[in-house]
Amino acid sequence: MRGESLAVLKIGGSVITVKDKALTPNNSAIRRLAKEIADSRFSPLIIVHGGGSFGHPIAAKYGIAEGFKDENQMVGFSETHNAMVKLNMLVVEALLDEGLPAFSMAPSSLIITRGGRIQHIYRDPLEQALKFGFMPVLYGDAVFDYDMGFTVLSGDQILSRLATEFGAERIIIGVDVDGIYTVDPKINPKAQLITRLTLNELVNLIDRIGVSRSIDVTGGMMGKIRELMAPAMNGVNILIVNALKPNYIYKALRGEDVVGTRIIRG
Ligand code: ADP
Repeated sequence: MRGESLAVLKIGGSVITVKDKALTPNNSAIRRLAKEIADSRFSPLIIVHGGGSFGHPIAAKYGIAEGFKDENQMVGFSETHNAMVKLNMLVVEALLDEGLPAFSMAPSSLIITRGGRIQHIYRDPLEQALKFGFMPVLYGDAVFDYDMGFTVLSGDQILSRLATEFGAERIIIGVDVDGIYTVDPKINPKAQLITRLTLNELVNLIDRIGVSRSIDVTGGMMGKIRELMAPAMNGVNILIVNALKPNYIYKALRGEDVVGTRIIRG
């Protein structure tokens, strides 16, 4: 599937780590996903992964997302980045073991934010990597910020920006649920999966004004939806699937039928 059209794949921290156990990778999921990505033969592809139990506990302990307040946070800021580097190594190693030219790229060295939003991205290394057929692998990171000193930059914001910046045709997001539901399926067993969401519905959802179907999105999924606005408006095809289920990411990359939520312009 080597073509011209770029896809950006996000793998959630909830998929590749054990969320309630600090610094614990889900090694079997990491290896399985690396194989699915290799088997799909999809290229060009940028991968962005989340932090799960590698990033969040340390970032929360030191209040990294709130920015610099005192010097005691500085080691915590570096530790947050370091934990993400370790998780990233596991992901990249699994991809390399599958024979893929995966290449780790640290967001904190390529990107600077202002007030938590990406202000500048040094795109040349990414561009060159893609041009030569490499598979850049980025992650949610502790980054430097012009206003706050430093902050946490989510993998979701990176994904959205890269998709726009490099004119991706598709965004695939792998999470630990089947897609966007009417309500958080982990809390409410009556939650119903929404297989298609229009741009209009997406906008209404973010503004929390009357959506045709009443949809209640919170937490991590709401963060994702906010970041998906810009690429959705630019006409990027967006698919959210369950990456914990074997072959879902494979099918999504192959463009085959798979259960999930599609965000369409319509
Ligand atoms: P990741 O760490 O994989 O990027 P998050 O845990 O941050 O993902 O976000 C996904 C989570 O969002 C789901 O596991 C689910 O518990 C929660 N969520 C909240 N509202 C919804 C909803 N309406 N539909 C689907 N998931 C939802």
